[in-house]
Amino acid sequence: MKFGDTIQSADWKKEKHIPVIELPDVISAGKPFSVTVSVGKEIPHPNTTGHHIKWIDVYFKPESDKFIHEVAHFDFTAHAESTKGDNEGSVLTEPIVTFWMTVKEPGTLIALELCNIHGVWESSAEITLAE
Ligand code: FE
Repeated sequence: MKFGDTIQSADWKKEKHIPVIELPDVISAGKPFSVTVSVGKEIPHPNTTGHHIKWIDVYFKPESDKFIHEVAHFDFTAHAESTKGDNEGSVLTEPIVTFWMTVKEPGTLIALELCNIHGVWESSAEITLAE
């Protein structure tokens, strides 16, 4: 078995684990643009001490390149842990991030996310460039 065989994908409107990638309508070469990646956009994923999203990782595969490049990695580290017990803490990290990036050519953005008990899930979005 290979690691890639364990990565799961599905329709984000039916499966709460899928990272949803949102991009601007127009992206131009060399101009920074915002990217939002969230988990549970349609069906909220639990956010408890025992069951939560641990991280989101984003990669870019340029059209002309054989290899992917990691663009950003976000750890979500607060899940209501407390000395009073699980889920008694006062802070939770929400599994949504917005960051900015720039590309020189079109390609594919790939997002991975890890649920602490349901493994790694993926999705992708094509980046096409305005003239
Ligand atoms: Fe889960």
